[in-house]
Amino acid sequence: MISMCAGDITVQFDRNGSRTFKKTGLIDWVGKPIMVLFDSFKFNFDLEGRIQRIDGFPSPQSWDWIQRTMANDWIYYDRVWVPGALGVPGALSVPAELIGDSAWAVNGRADLPALHGHDGLQRPYVRAAFDAFDRLIHAFRNLLVRMPELRYESGEAVQDEDVRRCWEFLGKAARNDRRQLQKTADRLHEIHGQMMVLPPDAIRVDYRVILVKVMDGCINACGFCSVRGKAEFAVRNREDIDRQIAALAEVYGADLYNYNSVVFGECDALAAPEIEYAAKRAFEGFHCGESYHTGSNLLLFSTNQSFLDQPDSAFEMLEGLPFEKIYINVGWEAATDEALSRLGKQQTAAEVFSGMGKAGTINRNSRKIKISGNFILAAGFECESIVNAIQNTRYCGQLYLSPLQGKSNREQTLKDFYAIRNEVSTDVRVHLYTMQRM
Ligand code: SF4
Repeated sequence: MISMCAGDITVQFDRNGSRTFKKTGLIDWVGKPIMVLFDSFKFNFDLEGRIQRIDGFPSPQSWDWIQRTMANDWIYYDRVWVPGALGVPGALSVPAELIGDSAWAVNGRADLPALHGHDGLQRPYVRAAFDAFDRLIHAFRNLLVRMPELRYESGEAVQDEDVRRCWEFLGKAARNDRRQLQKTADRLHEIHGQMMVLPPDAIRVDYRVILVKVMDGCINACGFCSVRGKAEFAVRNREDIDRQIAALAEVYGADLYNYNSVVFGECDALAAPEIEYAAKRAFEGFHCGESYHTGSNLLLFSTNQSFLDQPDSAFEMLEGLPFEKIYINVGWEAATDEALSRLGKQQTAAEVFSGMGKAGTINRNSRKIKISGNFILAAGFECESIVNAIQNTRYCGQLYLSPLQGKSNREQTLKDFYAIRNEVSTDVRVHLYTMQRM
């Protein structure tokens, strides 16, 4: 690690974090940020000088931090929030148990019922962190005017190469105030549009994904859907895919090094005709094979119908892609005709069973392709039918449960979660779906 001081600011390069996105190791930050120590906070900047994470809250919140996405959403990471198991036998209510990560990612917008009432982003110490960030940008600008001599933290004079590196970073970071960060997010949305929810498997990479749309909208129009977006169903052509990849590579710039995962949008990407072309172009254009992070991932949604329609050759094509893992998430949502009809979901229970059977077979046989599924949790929906479907179809793999907004409270969600999780075999990993967007 190289640590340099300029006035009351310390800039640290090469303070490398986890390469696997795990938050449980001794090093509790991820990727290769540039760190700045200022005031009482630790600021992680990306390799283009954009703030990415702030740590340093006072005890007892010293384990928590806030993190910014490239869509300029701030998320509060909480390791110890206890949602209250409220009499559910065997309930632990820790984030790893419920969502598959060791910290809750609270966005204050589309959180699980277990996180309702979490006011992390409004807390005074978070406001203090934002104020300190504004002052830090100001301080960077002052430094660029004064250009003081830099010293290593040890007191020695700084070598020319590190001087150049430090001033280059300060020049970039000084431009990225809150207004500029929003402009960058707007530019991203100009390039690919919004995606109201990322595939649930994106939690594996802490939602650090680059989005490329290979299609828009969804062929379905489910009655309960709040994530479909406004776009009509349409597929994107090669020219548009190339345009997105070139423009995104420019926006992410040097920080591409911190990404190894691509999401193909939007809600039914498996139906897009240009998956193979887009995957090869994205892998190359974003240098996914040369990322700081271990492995490389492609993530996408599929409707059950598109998934069932794919012939074996489509999965052979996916097996041949350069990404190390391919995660496809299928919306099954319910396992009886009655529940599907109440949800306004245009599929039958028999089709759900076929999809689950096919997914289980793929998951057992492929090391690269992993199919996960979603089910809805809501008052009046029987969890036994989901357990029954898992057992009857021999589904194995990841299952995500989404509490239906306004129809499932914290206690009901936890009860349903454990009712399913405790009844299925260990090769079905059940988690609640934490929804983040791009
Ligand atoms: S398939 Fe999924 S994205 Fe499409 S309308 Fe239904 S719930 Fe929404």
